[in-house]
Amino acid sequence: MKKLIIAALSATLACSTAYAAGVTEKDLANDTATAGDVLTNGMGRHLQRHSPLTTLNKKNVKNLLPAWAFSLGGEKQRGQETQPIIHDGIMYITGSYSRMYAIDVKTGKEIWQYDARLPEGILPCCDVVNRGAAIYGDKIYFGTLDARIVALDAKTGDVVWRKKFADYKAGYSYTAAPLIVDGMIITGNSGGEFGIVGEVQARDAESGELIWTRPVIEGHMGTYKGKESTMTGTKNATWPGDMWKTGGGATWLGGSYDAETKTLVFGTSNPAPWNSWLRAAGSPKGTEGDNLYAASRVAINPENGEIKWHFQTTPREGWDYDGVNEMVAYTDRSGNKRWATADRNGYFYVLNREDGKFVSATPFVKNITWAKGIDENGRPIFNEPNRPGDPAKSADGKKGEVIFAIPSFLGGKNWMPMAHSPKTGNFYVPSNEWGMDIWNEPITYKKGAAYLGSGFTIKPIFEDYIGSLKAIDPDTGDVKWEFKNNAPLWAGVMTTAGGLVFTGTPEGEVIAFDDETGEKLWSFQTGSGIVGQPVTWEQDGEQYVSVISGWGGAVPLWGGEVAKKVNYLNQGGTLWTFKLPKQLAAAE
Ligand code: CA
Ligand code: CA
Repeated sequence: MKKLIIAALSATLACSTAYAAGVTEKDLANDTATAGDVLTNGMGRHLQRHSPLTTLNKKNVKNLLPAWAFSLGGEKQRGQETQPIIHDGIMYITGSYSRMYAIDVKTGKEIWQYDARLPEGILPCCDVVNRGAAIYGDKIYFGTLDARIVALDAKTGDVVWRKKFADYKAGYSYTAAPLIVDGMIITGNSGGEFGIVGEVQARDAESGELIWTRPVIEGHMGTYKGKESTMTGTKNATWPGDMWKTGGGATWLGGSYDAETKTLVFGTSNPAPWNSWLRAAGSPKGTEGDNLYAASRVAINPENGEIKWHFQTTPREGWDYDGVNEMVAYTDRSGNKRWATADRNGYFYVLNREDGKFVSATPFVKNITWAKGIDENGRPIFNEPNRPGDPAKSADGKKGEVIFAIPSFLGGKNWMPMAHSPKTGNFYVPSNEWGMDIWNEPITYKKGAAYLGSGFTIKPIFEDYIGSLKAIDPDTGDVKWEFKNNAPLWAGVMTTAGGLVFTGTPEGEVIAFDDETGEKLWSFQTGSGIVGQPVTWEQDGEQYVSVISGWGGAVPLWGGEVAKKVNYLNQGGTLWTFKLPKQLAAAE
């Protein structure tokens, strides 16, 4: 009997040892602390984008040198927004047009490349970008512009499974980095400009089989293990008529996971269409026309896909202020567990971690027009004359009153992720100071066609800059320092315990700033605009930094007068890796 137990035990051990060759739930949970790899989007599921490494610091960052560069190749370039994943000597990056690459992290040599071979007729709203992969077990995952999630063998790049999550012909696509929690791959969707319905889906990461789905617009039914589960919200509580059926709320930037409260949080885009007069009347008093849960953060129980709480940043949203921006879990200086998020609408919000209750909101861009402020419940105090006018009230019924709104619809902050530093307690927010002329028009839903009911032109508001990287104290909303940039900022930010803040500019520079003063300590010209996300890691006792260069994203396509201003910028597609050589680490 004893022998048998031992045999069984050693079989279990052998099994878990074999499994440890791949990435485990524990590895993902500990990602920030393990400096030798980068396993998660956000460099940790809290999305703080902070490294505990101090090898590279304020004194020696001037000695940071290029180690290797990798070209994505291909005739088509466009925006490169990926965050590298690094595991077991391999770097995984995604590229424009739904491509993925595995690169030898020591030499920069390609190991394999996967091209999704997209069909004609995909409908990406805002460039053919991809923001990164997810890794778990022996597989690497990403989403493609034809609305599929793909699992590849991490060593060979061979397809293990490939699942369609929605119909690309109806405007669905995928650009975010997937999230892995407890053996599930959890994904959102893109397509808020086509009247799609925002949804979060959880699949078995091993097989790709669906576990649960949670639409984020009220009235739609969720599913659990293939059966209907519960309705999202209450049908027609905050939406008039059938408008909820094509209500938008795309969960296009993916989500974050807080292990302490076992909560997923996904942001939701603009309600559809943009013309808010078509979504104005609802039933219960006080929530009339709020259009839940669009332009919100929605907290979901990962076990069953049920909604735990929500926080809506812009009720009855009417300026394309998507509520997708990332929620960063952090602990404030007094030890309170919080979420922070910098919304498209120009306000920086702090929420309570446990229940999403509103704590504070402060403007992080200048001259906001659409709201006079945020009340004690976190609800905006609307400046109603700054809502685009109702076309039904115009002389010919075709064009409502044009208004000038700040921020522009591309937001005080768009998708590009901010970073937190537990060392300074501050957030480092890539923001843009711009406005827009915007008006409303009549519109009816047509499958696969843009569903806006709006016209617009983005305009600069200051002569010398649009981009603005700000160090923000989350306790007060005070801006501790600001770096102004001529072109709009569109790259992610990273902080390190060495006191550095990294980001890039559309003009091509990757820059390291002093986290306390904002002084520019180091920069390097990468040859094309940076709209990617920097990472750092340690290898053989040396600290490395990587960022992708390749101008594109929404600004050149949708930027109006701003797009014209920056149309001299060249496209590209090169992953740059820098290192601080050992012999220069001590040099000053
Ligand atoms: Ca790690
Ligand atoms: Ca939108």
